[in-house]
Amino acid sequence: MAEASVLDEKIRAVLPDVRELRHQLHQIPEIAFKEYKTSARIREYLEGLGLPLLPTTLGTDVTAVLKGGRPGPTVLLRSDIDALPIEEVTGAPYASRHPGYAHSCGHDGHMAMLLGTATVLAQLKAQVPGTVQFLFQPAEESDAGAKSLVDAGYFEKGPHIDEAYALHGWPGVPAGVVECCPGPIMASTDDFLITLTGTGGHGAMPSKAVDLVSASAAFILALKCAAAAMDTPESPVVVSVCAVSGGSTYNVFPEKLVLKGTSRYLSDKVGQEIKKTIKQLLDQFIIPAGGQYKIEQPKPDYVAVDNSPELYKRVEAVAVKYLEKEKWKGNAVCSMCGDDFGFILQKVKGAYFHLGMGEDYPSLHNPTYNFNDDALEAGIRMMCGLVLER
Ligand SMILES: [Zn+2]
Ligand SMILES: [Zn+2]
Repeated sequence: MAEASVLDEKIRAVLPDVRELRHQLHQIPEIAFKEYKTSARIREYLEGLGLPLLPTTLGTDVTAVLKGGRPGPTVLLRSDIDALPIEEVTGAPYASRHPGYAHSCGHDGHMAMLLGTATVLAQLKAQVPGTVQFLFQPAEESDAGAKSLVDAGYFEKGPHIDEAYALHGWPGVPAGVVECCPGPIMASTDDFLITLTGTGGHGAMPSKAVDLVSASAAFILALKCAAAAMDTPESPVVVSVCAVSGGSTYNVFPEKLVLKGTSRYLSDKVGQEIKKTIKQLLDQFIIPAGGQYKIEQPKPDYVAVDNSPELYKRVEAVAVKYLEKEKWKGNAVCSMCGDDFGFILQKVKGAYFHLGMGEDYPSLHNPTYNFNDDALEAGIRMMCGLVLER
Protein backbone atom coordinates (compact mmCIF):
# COMPACT_ATOMS: atom_id res chain seq x y z
CA MET A 1 0.00 0.00 0.00
CA ALA A 2 0.92 3.67 -0.23
CA GLU A 3 3.26 5.15 2.31
CA ALA A 4 1.19 6.65 5.14
CA SER A 5 2.92 10.02 4.73
CA VAL A 6 2.18 10.10 0.97
CA LEU A 7 -1.48 9.36 1.64
CA ASP A 8 -1.62 12.03 4.37
CA GLU A 9 -0.12 14.56 2.00
CA LYS A 10 -2.55 13.74 -0.82
CA ILE A 11 -5.59 13.88 1.47
CA ARG A 12 -4.50 17.18 2.99
CA ALA A 13 -3.93 18.59 -0.50
CA VAL A 14 -7.41 17.65 -1.73
CA LEU A 15 -9.33 18.86 1.35
CA PRO A 16 -9.82 22.52 0.30
CA ASP A 17 -11.30 21.33 -3.02
CA VAL A 18 -13.55 18.83 -1.25
CA ARG A 19 -14.84 21.54 1.06
CA GLU A 20 -15.53 23.83 -1.90
CA LEU A 21 -17.21 20.97 -3.79
CA ARG A 22 -19.48 20.28 -0.83
CA HIS A 23 -20.53 23.90 -0.70
CA GLN A 24 -21.25 23.90 -4.46
CA LEU A 25 -23.33 20.71 -4.20
CA HIS A 26 -25.07 22.10 -1.11
CA GLN A 27 -26.44 24.98 -3.21
CA ILE A 28 -28.16 22.74 -5.76
CA PRO A 29 -30.21 20.25 -3.69
CA GLU A 30 -32.45 18.02 -5.80
CA ILE A 31 -34.84 15.26 -4.77
CA ALA A 32 -35.25 11.63 -5.83
CA PHE A 33 -34.51 10.89 -9.50
CA LYS A 34 -34.37 14.61 -10.31
CA GLU A 35 -30.71 15.00 -9.39
CA TYR A 36 -29.84 16.43 -12.83
CA LYS A 37 -27.50 19.30 -11.91
CA THR A 38 -25.97 17.22 -9.12
CA SER A 39 -25.16 14.23 -11.31
CA ALA A 40 -23.86 16.54 -14.07
CA ARG A 41 -21.44 18.15 -11.60
CA ILE A 42 -20.31 14.73 -10.36
CA ARG A 43 -19.74 13.46 -13.92
CA GLU A 44 -17.81 16.60 -14.83
CA TYR A 45 -15.57 16.21 -11.78
CA LEU A 46 -14.90 12.49 -12.36
CA GLU A 47 -14.14 13.07 -16.04
CA GLY A 48 -11.67 15.72 -14.92
CA LEU A 49 -9.90 12.97 -12.97
CA GLY A 50 -9.71 10.89 -16.16
CA LEU A 51 -11.83 8.08 -14.71
CA PRO A 52 -14.03 6.12 -17.12
CA LEU A 53 -17.77 6.21 -16.35
CA LEU A 54 -20.16 3.28 -16.71
CA PRO A 55 -23.43 3.88 -18.57
CA THR A 56 -26.15 5.19 -16.28
CA THR A 57 -28.83 2.74 -15.10
CA LEU A 58 -31.56 5.04 -13.72
CA GLY A 59 -30.67 8.35 -15.38
CA THR A 60 -29.13 10.23 -12.48
CA ASP A 61 -26.82 7.57 -11.07
CA VAL A 62 -23.11 7.99 -11.84
CA THR A 63 -20.50 5.26 -11.60
CA ALA A 64 -16.77 5.73 -12.16
CA VAL A 65 -14.24 2.91 -12.28
CA LEU A 66 -10.63 2.99 -11.18
CA LYS A 67 -8.46 0.04 -12.12
CA GLY A 68 -5.55 -0.20 -9.73
CA GLY A 69 -2.00 -1.25 -10.57
CA ARG A 70 -2.01 -4.28 -8.25
CA PRO A 71 -4.17 -7.40 -8.13
CA GLY A 72 -7.06 -7.30 -5.70
CA PRO A 73 -10.83 -7.37 -5.25
CA THR A 74 -13.43 -5.06 -6.76
CA VAL A 75 -14.69 -2.71 -4.06
CA LEU A 76 -17.79 -0.56 -4.41
CA LEU A 77 -17.89 2.74 -2.51
CA ARG A 78 -21.31 4.37 -2.47
CA SER A 79 -22.54 7.88 -1.80
CA ASP A 80 -26.18 8.92 -1.91
CA ILE A 81 -26.83 12.15 -3.83
CA ASP A 82 -30.42 13.29 -3.19
CA ALA A 83 -31.77 16.06 -0.94
CA LEU A 84 -35.05 16.76 0.87
CA PRO A 85 -38.12 18.97 0.33
CA ILE A 86 -37.20 21.17 3.31
CA GLU A 87 -36.67 24.95 3.50
CA GLU A 88 -33.10 25.42 4.70
CA VAL A 89 -32.43 27.73 7.65
CA THR A 90 -28.71 27.17 8.21
CA GLY A 91 -27.79 30.77 7.37
CA ALA A 92 -24.73 29.41 5.52
CA PRO A 93 -23.32 31.69 2.81
CA TYR A 94 -23.56 28.70 0.45
CA ALA A 95 -27.18 27.85 1.43
CA SER A 96 -29.61 26.19 -1.01
CA ARG A 97 -30.43 28.14 -4.15
CA HIS A 98 -33.42 25.89 -4.75
CA PRO A 99 -36.29 27.29 -2.64
CA GLY A 100 -38.01 24.55 -0.65
CA TYR A 101 -35.17 22.04 -1.01
CA ALA A 102 -32.13 21.40 1.15
CA HIS A 103 -29.33 18.94 1.83
CA SER A 104 -30.68 18.40 5.35
CA CYS A 105 -29.44 14.80 5.44
CA GLY A 106 -25.90 15.79 4.47
CA HIS A 107 -25.61 13.82 1.23
CA ASP A 108 -23.62 16.83 -0.08
CA GLY A 109 -20.90 15.81 2.41
CA HIS A 110 -21.08 12.15 1.35
CA MET A 111 -20.65 13.09 -2.34
CA ALA A 112 -17.79 15.49 -1.65
CA MET A 113 -15.93 12.87 0.42
CA LEU A 114 -16.34 10.21 -2.25
CA LEU A 115 -15.12 12.61 -4.96
CA GLY A 116 -12.15 13.44 -2.70
CA THR A 117 -11.50 9.71 -2.24
CA ALA A 118 -11.60 9.20 -6.02
CA THR A 119 -9.10 12.05 -6.46
CA VAL A 120 -6.64 10.61 -3.96
CA LEU A 121 -6.94 7.01 -5.19
CA ALA A 122 -6.58 8.11 -8.84
CA GLN A 123 -3.29 9.77 -7.87
CA LEU A 124 -2.17 6.55 -6.14
CA LYS A 125 -3.44 4.31 -8.98
CA ALA A 126 -0.26 2.21 -9.19
CA GLN A 127 -0.58 1.21 -5.52
CA VAL A 128 -4.34 0.59 -5.60
CA PRO A 129 -5.18 -3.12 -5.28
CA GLY A 130 -7.93 -4.38 -7.58
CA THR A 131 -10.70 -2.16 -8.90
CA VAL A 132 -12.71 0.56 -7.20
CA GLN A 133 -16.23 1.34 -8.35
CA PHE A 134 -17.46 4.75 -7.14
CA LEU A 135 -21.26 4.74 -7.11
CA PHE A 136 -23.20 8.01 -6.75
CA GLN A 137 -26.72 6.78 -6.09
CA PRO A 138 -29.96 8.72 -6.47
CA ALA A 139 -33.16 8.61 -4.41
CA GLU A 140 -31.97 7.32 -1.04
CA GLU A 141 -34.50 9.32 0.94
CA SER A 142 -37.86 7.95 -0.11
CA ASP A 143 -37.85 6.03 -3.36
CA ALA A 144 -35.27 3.32 -2.56
CA GLY A 145 -32.93 4.22 -5.44
CA ALA A 146 -30.64 1.38 -4.35
CA LYS A 147 -33.50 -1.11 -4.80
CA SER A 148 -34.22 0.32 -8.26
CA LEU A 149 -30.54 -0.15 -9.18
CA VAL A 150 -30.57 -3.74 -7.93
CA ASP A 151 -33.86 -4.48 -9.74
CA ALA A 152 -32.49 -2.97 -12.96
CA GLY A 153 -29.58 -5.43 -12.86
CA TYR A 154 -26.83 -2.96 -11.84
CA PHE A 155 -24.87 -5.74 -10.15
CA GLU A 156 -25.14 -8.11 -13.10
CA LYS A 157 -24.18 -5.50 -15.73
CA GLY A 158 -20.71 -4.57 -14.55
CA PRO A 159 -17.82 -6.61 -13.19
CA HIS A 160 -18.41 -8.82 -10.15
CA ILE A 161 -18.24 -6.72 -6.97
CA ASP A 162 -16.61 -8.31 -3.95
CA GLU A 163 -17.29 -5.77 -1.21
CA ALA A 164 -19.39 -2.62 -0.74
CA TYR A 165 -19.03 0.25 1.75
CA ALA A 166 -21.01 3.37 2.58
CA LEU A 167 -21.15 5.90 5.38
CA HIS A 168 -23.55 8.45 6.82
CA GLY A 169 -22.84 11.66 8.72
CA TRP A 170 -24.11 11.17 12.27
CA PRO A 171 -25.15 13.89 14.73
CA GLY A 172 -24.75 13.04 18.42
CA VAL A 173 -21.31 11.51 17.89
CA PRO A 174 -18.15 13.68 18.18
CA ALA A 175 -16.95 15.13 14.85
CA GLY A 176 -14.79 12.73 12.87
CA VAL A 177 -15.48 9.73 15.14
CA VAL A 178 -16.41 6.57 13.24
CA GLU A 179 -18.88 4.14 14.79
CA CYS A 180 -19.97 0.80 13.43
CA CYS A 181 -21.34 -2.55 14.53
CA PRO A 182 -21.51 -6.08 13.16
CA GLY A 183 -25.01 -7.11 12.00
CA PRO A 184 -27.82 -4.55 11.59
CA ILE A 185 -26.74 -0.92 11.97
CA MET A 186 -29.85 0.68 10.40
CA ALA A 187 -33.39 -0.64 10.77
CA SER A 188 -35.97 -1.89 8.30
CA THR A 189 -38.43 0.91 7.69
CA ASP A 190 -42.01 0.69 6.59
CA ASP A 191 -44.22 3.77 6.24
CA PHE A 192 -47.99 3.40 6.32
CA LEU A 193 -50.91 5.56 5.24
CA ILE A 194 -54.28 4.73 6.80
CA THR A 195 -57.49 6.32 5.56
CA LEU A 196 -60.50 6.05 7.89
CA THR A 197 -63.98 6.76 6.55
CA GLY A 198 -67.46 6.85 8.11
CA THR A 199 -70.69 8.80 8.16
CA GLY A 200 -70.12 12.39 9.24
CA GLY A 201 -72.59 14.26 11.41
CA HIS A 202 -73.40 16.79 14.13
CA GLY A 203 -71.04 16.86 17.10
CA ALA A 204 -74.06 17.00 19.41
CA MET A 205 -75.43 13.71 18.09
CA PRO A 206 -72.68 11.08 18.09
CA SER A 207 -75.26 8.29 17.88
CA LYS A 208 -76.17 9.48 14.36
CA ALA A 209 -72.59 9.60 13.08
CA VAL A 210 -69.33 7.65 13.15
CA ASP A 211 -66.89 9.20 15.62
CA LEU A 212 -63.68 8.51 13.70
CA VAL A 213 -61.73 10.93 15.90
CA SER A 214 -62.30 8.96 19.15
CA ALA A 215 -61.91 5.61 17.38
CA SER A 216 -58.59 6.68 15.86
CA ALA A 217 -57.37 7.93 19.26
CA ALA A 218 -58.10 4.48 20.75
CA PHE A 219 -56.42 2.79 17.79
CA ILE A 220 -53.27 4.97 18.02
CA LEU A 221 -52.83 4.32 21.74
CA ALA A 222 -53.44 0.58 21.35
CA LEU A 223 -50.85 0.47 18.53
CA LYS A 224 -48.33 2.29 20.73
CA CYS A 225 -48.87 -0.28 23.52
CA ALA A 226 -48.64 -3.23 21.11
CA ALA A 227 -45.38 -1.90 19.67
CA ALA A 228 -43.95 -1.37 23.17
CA ALA A 229 -44.79 -5.00 23.99
CA MET A 230 -42.91 -6.21 20.89
CA ASP A 231 -39.84 -4.08 21.60
CA THR A 232 -36.92 -5.96 23.17
CA PRO A 233 -33.20 -5.09 23.46
CA GLU A 234 -32.37 -7.90 20.97
CA SER A 235 -35.13 -6.99 18.55
CA PRO A 236 -36.00 -3.29 18.84
CA VAL A 237 -39.34 -2.10 17.47
CA VAL A 238 -40.70 1.42 17.02
CA VAL A 239 -44.12 2.24 15.57
CA SER A 240 -45.01 5.93 15.41
CA VAL A 241 -48.12 7.62 14.07
CA CYS A 242 -46.75 11.03 13.12
CA ALA A 243 -49.63 12.76 11.35
CA VAL A 244 -53.39 12.82 11.89
CA SER A 245 -55.46 14.96 9.60
CA GLY A 246 -59.20 15.43 9.18
CA GLY A 247 -62.07 17.51 10.46
CA SER A 248 -62.27 21.27 10.37
CA THR A 249 -64.52 22.64 13.04
CA TYR A 250 -65.89 22.27 16.59
CA ASN A 251 -69.14 20.45 16.07
CA VAL A 252 -68.87 18.27 12.97
CA PHE A 253 -67.69 14.66 12.90
CA PRO A 254 -65.52 14.34 9.76
CA GLU A 255 -66.23 11.72 7.11
CA LYS A 256 -62.58 11.04 6.62
CA LEU A 257 -59.45 10.94 8.76
CA VAL A 258 -55.94 10.23 7.45
CA LEU A 259 -53.16 8.79 9.62
CA LYS A 260 -49.51 8.63 8.54
CA GLY A 261 -46.90 6.68 10.39
CA THR A 262 -43.76 4.59 10.26
CA SER A 263 -42.59 1.22 11.64
CA ARG A 264 -38.96 0.36 12.41
CA TYR A 265 -37.66 -3.14 13.13
CA LEU A 266 -34.78 -5.47 12.32
CA SER A 267 -36.25 -8.64 10.82
CA ASP A 268 -38.85 -9.46 8.16
CA LYS A 269 -40.69 -11.65 10.66
CA VAL A 270 -41.21 -8.73 13.04
CA GLY A 271 -42.20 -6.50 10.10
CA GLN A 272 -44.94 -8.96 9.15
CA GLU A 273 -46.09 -9.11 12.78
CA ILE A 274 -46.38 -5.31 12.92
CA LYS A 275 -48.43 -5.24 9.69
CA LYS A 276 -50.73 -7.93 11.12
CA THR A 277 -51.10 -6.01 14.39
CA ILE A 278 -52.04 -2.77 12.61
CA LYS A 279 -54.79 -4.59 10.74
CA GLN A 280 -56.05 -6.38 13.87
CA LEU A 281 -56.25 -3.14 15.84
CA LEU A 282 -58.09 -1.36 13.02
CA ASP A 283 -60.56 -4.27 13.00
CA GLN A 284 -60.86 -3.95 16.77
CA PHE A 285 -61.31 -0.18 17.05
CA ILE A 286 -62.53 1.24 13.73
CA ILE A 287 -65.00 -1.40 12.51
CA PRO A 288 -67.07 -1.61 15.77
CA ALA A 289 -67.31 2.20 15.73
CA GLY A 290 -68.98 1.91 12.33
CA GLY A 291 -66.01 3.11 10.30
CA GLN A 292 -64.01 1.62 7.45
CA TYR A 293 -60.31 1.68 6.75
CA LYS A 294 -57.82 1.40 3.93
CA ILE A 295 -54.10 0.76 4.47
CA GLU A 296 -51.64 1.90 1.79
CA GLN A 297 -47.88 1.77 1.45
CA PRO A 298 -46.69 5.19 0.23
CA LYS A 299 -43.14 4.05 -0.49
CA PRO A 300 -41.21 0.78 -0.67
CA ASP A 301 -40.23 -0.86 2.62
CA TYR A 302 -36.50 -0.51 3.30
CA VAL A 303 -34.67 -3.61 4.47
CA ALA A 304 -32.26 -3.34 7.41
CA VAL A 305 -28.63 -2.43 6.69
CA ASP A 306 -27.03 -5.66 7.83
CA ASN A 307 -23.24 -5.39 8.16
CA SER A 308 -21.07 -8.40 7.40
CA PRO A 309 -19.28 -9.31 10.67
CA GLU A 310 -16.11 -10.02 8.65
CA LEU A 311 -16.14 -6.61 6.96
CA TYR A 312 -17.07 -4.88 10.22
CA LYS A 313 -13.66 -6.15 11.37
CA ARG A 314 -12.11 -4.56 8.30
CA VAL A 315 -13.78 -1.20 9.11
CA GLU A 316 -12.41 -1.52 12.64
CA ALA A 317 -8.89 -2.31 11.44
CA VAL A 318 -8.92 0.64 9.03
CA ALA A 319 -10.34 3.05 11.63
CA VAL A 320 -7.72 2.03 14.18
CA LYS A 321 -4.92 2.46 11.66
CA TYR A 322 -6.10 5.50 9.70
CA LEU A 323 -7.74 7.64 12.42
CA GLU A 324 -6.59 8.94 15.76
CA LYS A 325 -6.99 6.35 18.49
CA GLU A 326 -10.01 7.90 20.23
CA LYS A 327 -11.88 8.23 16.94
CA TRP A 328 -13.12 4.65 16.71
CA LYS A 329 -16.25 3.39 18.47
CA GLY A 330 -16.96 -0.29 17.89
CA ASN A 331 -20.14 -2.26 18.61
CA ALA A 332 -22.31 0.83 18.15
CA VAL A 333 -26.03 0.57 18.84
CA CYS A 334 -28.20 -0.05 15.78
CA SER A 335 -30.12 3.07 14.74
CA MET A 336 -33.86 2.91 14.06
CA CYS A 337 -33.34 5.15 11.04
CA GLY A 338 -33.17 3.43 7.66
CA ASP A 339 -30.96 3.53 4.56
CA ASP A 340 -31.51 1.83 1.22
CA PHE A 341 -27.87 0.63 1.25
CA GLY A 342 -29.50 -2.45 2.85
CA PHE A 343 -30.64 -3.51 -0.65
CA ILE A 344 -27.03 -3.39 -1.87
CA LEU A 345 -25.91 -5.49 1.09
CA GLN A 346 -28.44 -8.13 0.05
CA LYS A 347 -26.40 -8.47 -3.19
CA VAL A 348 -22.84 -7.90 -1.97
CA LYS A 349 -21.27 -8.31 1.45
CA GLY A 350 -20.20 -5.04 2.94
CA ALA A 351 -20.38 -2.58 5.79
CA TYR A 352 -21.92 0.80 6.56
CA PHE A 353 -20.69 3.11 9.26
CA HIS A 354 -21.60 6.38 10.94
CA LEU A 355 -19.29 9.39 10.79
CA GLY A 356 -19.72 11.76 13.76
CA MET A 357 -20.84 15.33 13.06
CA GLY A 358 -20.59 16.59 16.65
CA GLU A 359 -22.16 15.66 19.98
CA ASP A 360 -24.46 18.65 20.20
CA TYR A 361 -25.43 18.89 16.55
CA PRO A 362 -28.79 19.46 14.78
CA SER A 363 -30.49 16.21 13.90
CA LEU A 364 -30.74 14.79 10.39
CA HIS A 365 -33.67 16.21 8.38
CA ASN A 366 -33.73 19.32 10.59
CA PRO A 367 -33.80 22.58 8.54
CA THR A 368 -30.68 23.77 10.40
CA TYR A 369 -28.66 20.62 9.62
CA ASN A 370 -25.51 21.31 7.64
CA PHE A 371 -22.87 18.60 7.16
CA ASN A 372 -19.79 19.35 9.31
CA ASP A 373 -16.74 20.12 7.14
CA ASP A 374 -14.50 19.12 10.06
CA ALA A 375 -15.49 15.48 9.46
CA LEU A 376 -14.61 15.41 5.74
CA GLU A 377 -11.03 14.32 6.32
CA ALA A 378 -11.97 11.33 8.50
CA GLY A 379 -14.49 10.14 5.89
CA ILE A 380 -11.91 10.30 3.09
CA ARG A 381 -9.30 8.54 5.23
CA MET A 382 -11.74 5.72 5.94
CA MET A 383 -12.78 5.25 2.32
CA CYS A 384 -9.15 5.34 1.09
CA GLY A 385 -8.10 2.93 3.85
CA LEU A 386 -10.86 0.44 2.99
CA VAL A 387 -9.46 0.24 -0.55
CA LEU A 388 -5.73 0.42 0.17
CA GLU A 389 -5.53 -1.80 3.22
CA ARG A 390 -5.11 -5.25 1.63
ZN1 LIG B 1 -32.26 11.29 5.23
ZN1 LIG C 1 -29.30 10.43 4.52
